[in-house]
Amino acid sequence: MLLDTKAMRHLTAEDWRVLTAVEMGSKNHELVPTPLIEKIARLKGGASGVHKSISALAKVGLIARMKEAKYDGYRLSYGGLDYLALHTHASRKHVYSVGSRVGVGKESDIMIVADDQGTQKILKIHRLGRISFRTVKTNRDYLKNRQSASWMYLSRLAAIKEYAFMQALREEGFPVPEPIAQSRHTIVMTLIDAPPMRQISSVPDPAALYAELISLILRLAKHGLIHGDFNEFNILIREDKTDDDSTTTLTPILIDFPQMVSMDHQNAEMYFDRDVACVKRFFARRFHFESTAPGPFFKDAKKTVGRDGVRRLDAVVEASGFTKKMAKDLEAAIRAQEANPKSDAGESEEDSEEEEDDEGESGSEGGEEGLQVIGDQVVENEEGLEKLTINDGT
Ligand code: ADP
Ligand code: MG
Repeated sequence: MLLDTKAMRHLTAEDWRVLTAVEMGSKNHELVPTPLIEKIARLKGGASGVHKSISALAKVGLIARMKEAKYDGYRLSYGGLDYLALHTHASRKHVYSVGSRVGVGKESDIMIVADDQGTQKILKIHRLGRISFRTVKTNRDYLKNRQSASWMYLSRLAAIKEYAFMQALREEGFPVPEPIAQSRHTIVMTLIDAPPMRQISSVPDPAALYAELISLILRLAKHGLIHGDFNEFNILIREDKTDDDSTTTLTPILIDFPQMVSMDHQNAEMYFDRDVACVKRFFARRFHFESTAPGPFFKDAKKTVGRDGVRRLDAVVEASGFTKKMAKDLEAAIRAQEANPKSDAGESEEDSEEEEDDEGESGSEGGEEGLQVIGDQVVENEEGLEKLTINDGT
């Protein structure tokens, strides 16, 4: 799903209030009835103002009218939730303009955005539940027909969890992007100017990079964590040159954290081994490098958890207000997504070297249009920038 910010500039302060009212109403209503929207929005113009905004929002697809046996009502669309999140980021001055999409995963859209200083950042929009869970046997019973399976709820959980881990990892000095803000199902973080390892065809010293990645896995384990998706798409490789250009060091930067699990998880060993195997397989295939040392093994890593007084990070998500039920809901959704054969969950497993230039495929939509401004400041004479005022009246 492509984020399209075009309609944003046409929304009035009343429209934003009504959109917000639909969001609030959806917290305990599958379909938000019009009288409830009126009640929450409390527009000065009364019911007619609300109706006008409702049709404006429905016209651009931010809300959708649904009919049910008992009553008609409105539902927030993905686009509507995207707008609300962007609106929050814009009002907090974290995002001023939205540029091109750099990636689309099975679970997210990754956009380049910029603040009003022109600093580029990454906006990650979680899209959990994009794939139908009904086709997945394992988690079908758990997720079926439940509020816990709603995409809005699950995507928000993914963003909250990812943001909490990024903050904690960053505080402990792990090489991860700096988390800047989180709103609803989205995260703003620093843009890492480095390609995923997937795009690297050769490195001067594979053994050194391999050792660094394995030590990253072990360092995470010591803090009580397993990344859970430690593959060549989620490891960015930054080239750092010395001042005189004589030596280059490669620094791996880790991204993508919604599926992180604790070293105490019942399947921890499987996830740990899978992460290790992923690195081994990639290095063998791509760099023709195979480590002579066996392992590392889970049982050894397990002994190091919390050692030397290191802070355990596997509890940070709970500390951020994530309940056990939320964790369970999110995990069921992530596992369902992984297990879905229609998804691209296994792309790193069976990828072939021929797919090398597939990055461009999802890469440049929106690119030609340049940046779309969503913030509330006017920038003049800047190529490709359009003024998109947010009239939220606040
Ligand atoms: P998904 O959950 O869909 O896999 P990721 O967080 O792994 O999402 O991001 C997908 C892709 O977007 C990455 O492989 C990378 O190319 C790019 N990307 C994500 N975050 C950043 C970032 N902070 N800086 C640069 N590129 C990023
Ligand atoms: Mg990823």
